[in-house]
Amino acid sequence: MGGAISVTTCSRCKLPAVVHQPYSGQHLCGKHLSDSIRRRTSKELRRQLVLPKDARKSDGSPYVVLVAVSGGKDSAVLLTMVKDIIGGRRDVRIVAGCVDEGIDGYRSPSLECARSLSEELDIEFVTLSYEEMGYDRMDKVVSKIPAMGKLNDEADGMMPCSFCGVFRRQSLNALADKVGADVMALGHNLDDMAQSILMNLQKGEIERSVRLAPHTSSPIEGMVPRIVPLRWIPEQEIHAFAIVNSLPIHHGDCPHAPGAQRQQSRAIVAQLESLTPGARHGLLHSLDQIREIHRVVHPDPNSNISSCTLCGEATSRPVCQSCTMKKWLSEVP
Ligand code: SF4
Ligand SMILES: [Zn+2]
Ligand SMILES: [Zn+2]
Repeated sequence: MGGAISVTTCSRCKLPAVVHQPYSGQHLCGKHLSDSIRRRTSKELRRQLVLPKDARKSDGSPYVVLVAVSGGKDSAVLLTMVKDIIGGRRDVRIVAGCVDEGIDGYRSPSLECARSLSEELDIEFVTLSYEEMGYDRMDKVVSKIPAMGKLNDEADGMMPCSFCGVFRRQSLNALADKVGADVMALGHNLDDMAQSILMNLQKGEIERSVRLAPHTSSPIEGMVPRIVPLRWIPEQEIHAFAIVNSLPIHHGDCPHAPGAQRQQSRAIVAQLESLTPGARHGLLHSLDQIREIHRVVHPDPNSNISSCTLCGEATSRPVCQSCTMKKWLSEVP
């Protein structure tokens, strides 16, 4: 016959592979990839979230896990996994929370994906918008950036994501407050983690890396501890899992992302990984070791944390970044 397309088969069965893991030398089919992701996530979740046999609070209400969802693949896989792994516990309540940044053409469709997945999994779904938080919609923030930069040296040259990151963190804190969350799960994957570690290293900001989630063993005062159960799973595998399991996910990109520092870091991490498979795992292992050493040298993670004089949120400065940005926004008509 000739011309047959050669399909790589799974290293564990005879089915066609959907992913190749150069770092492990394995090829996996949809089922074996899903099994493997579940196993790795379950192990990491149990390590980061140590629950007693009965996790109910003193008033008898269940322990609340807020899963931050965006409609994208990572949080869709995270929500599916959290439900699958601890969804059967009657002493645990899972809530999916989505922040609406106010980005035309991007947020509404992705929010609907997040909502429909939550419905499919029978998980309570809550949202909070930047406007409800007292910020402008992100599209408007972006239009004000040049003027804010002219009025404030510190704001000069800042990119949309710098604002959005701060606003999202505050919004998630508010959502956590609203639902009485005891812990918040974020969908960061291995690539996200490696990018963050690299960005912080190149700026000399070890402290920032040390404060990255998970916060299980070093909670930050005034903030619901974050866990990141997918942190060892590469982005490509999460994507394949979402496709194989037909999760409703939004594929579009945020229109304000171009130019962000993360884009540069993303390309570098991808190149590192292709030159040296396992580089992402190595970066994350390095961080865990730095963290251990840091804990010995600085046993109190909250030593320089105080509360914002305007809103009371935890911050290392007199006025928190979010209140500072709110002020900048208010100065521009
Ligand atoms: S890409 Fe940047 S601006 Fe867009 S949603 Fe993410 S953080 Fe916000
Ligand atoms: Zn297989
Ligand atoms: Zn504040």
